[in-house]
Amino acid sequence: MDIILKNANVAHRDEPIRAADIAIKGEKIAAVEANIEAEAGQVIDCGGRLVSGSLIDAHVHLDAVLAAGLERDNESGTLFEGIEIWGDFKPKLTLEAVKERARRAVDWEVAQGAGFIRTHADTSEDSQLPTRALLELRDELKDRVDIQIVAFPQVGAKSFPGSEAQIRASLDMGADVVGGIPHNEVTREAGVDSVMFIFDEAEKRGLMIDVHCDEIDDSHARFLEVMVEQTFKRGMAGRVTASHCVAMHSYNNAYAYRLMGWIERSGLNVTANPFDNLILQARQDSYPKRRGMTRVKELLQAGVNVGIGHDSIMDPWYPLGRGDMVEAASLTLHVCQMSGVQEIDACFDMITWRNARNLGLEDYGVTKGANADLVVFDAASKADVLRINPACTHVFKRGRLVAETKPAESMVMGGAVDFVRGN
Ligand SMILES: [Zn+2]
Repeated sequence: MDIILKNANVAHRDEPIRAADIAIKGEKIAAVEANIEAEAGQVIDCGGRLVSGSLIDAHVHLDAVLAAGLERDNESGTLFEGIEIWGDFKPKLTLEAVKERARRAVDWEVAQGAGFIRTHADTSEDSQLPTRALLELRDELKDRVDIQIVAFPQVGAKSFPGSEAQIRASLDMGADVVGGIPHNEVTREAGVDSVMFIFDEAEKRGLMIDVHCDEIDDSHARFLEVMVEQTFKRGMAGRVTASHCVAMHSYNNAYAYRLMGWIERSGLNVTANPFDNLILQARQDSYPKRRGMTRVKELLQAGVNVGIGHDSIMDPWYPLGRGDMVEAASLTLHVCQMSGVQEIDACFDMITWRNARNLGLEDYGVTKGANADLVVFDAASKADVLRINPACTHVFKRGRLVAETKPAESMVMGGAVDFVRGN
């Protein structure tokens, strides 16, 4: 064996496996058993710490990260001022500057346990500079992280001339996933047309779909039902993701529950983006103010696969963030009121195996034969990861140690404090 992780609590879909050893050989997990006695190049004693599959960021805009304030600040804090600022800034982008900012943010994510990132690349300039920059970065960083690129038309596919050709150009260059933004089209009909275009392109090219869907506080934004219908009709279960879906927050319950049944039936995935949606939504509300998140708890209860994205890291839409998927899960837990014991675990699952399903990943998880894409947390359980937000002491990519963090040490009046309840 190359590496053996001793005495780990293994994070699984269901019950954790306590006090197991994990053996890594080459890029793969060779065994997960009690007391592996084999020789190994390196042995790490986990001391009961939680080991899980890599964290996964299912939705981020790496072409815009760390660009907050570079053009000007978003004073209103709205989605639409963000889009305006981004539109003014875009012509000034250079390949090297985009790569430099994205590389920095990716390393923030990797240091905090991420091994997979799905990023959107804005296709709405003829140069396709964001797609080019992120394709180059995808190759450059492949030893530390797997990146999927979504061809994302920020201004829509149907309302401006040339948008369809731009999306196709990005996909021709090598973008992995077809994106869209139907609620941003000028009419309902154009929005529906854009969904058809997205599904046609994806089907023709054999690609997955990830659409910014109904990211608006308008209860009449109902493109999710169109996506569900197309996913169902075309037999694309598991290959289609609707991101945001915040209009669902404002749907009447009769409609929302009927729709959730159809989402489950179609096999469409949903990605929630708590940082941006909590900041951006309900800006036109007085009090009471809506929370601006899709119905995560109820979707999970209906059997829908829900994942989580970071969405923005210091960009024109959201000036904060440090690429921390545990924080994104914790925020989801709080805003969706998921404080039941199993619900807390479910929030951890959304940034691990549920996001893996969302991205169509194979060979993921802490099981024999899977890729050795692993994180060791300085905490013993999923719930403690969410409560403490501990250091990721070891992050492995395909069996190689790619990131390490030393846990902080706190002392009060000379005595060590560890944030564990004890007995
Ligand atoms: Zn987004």
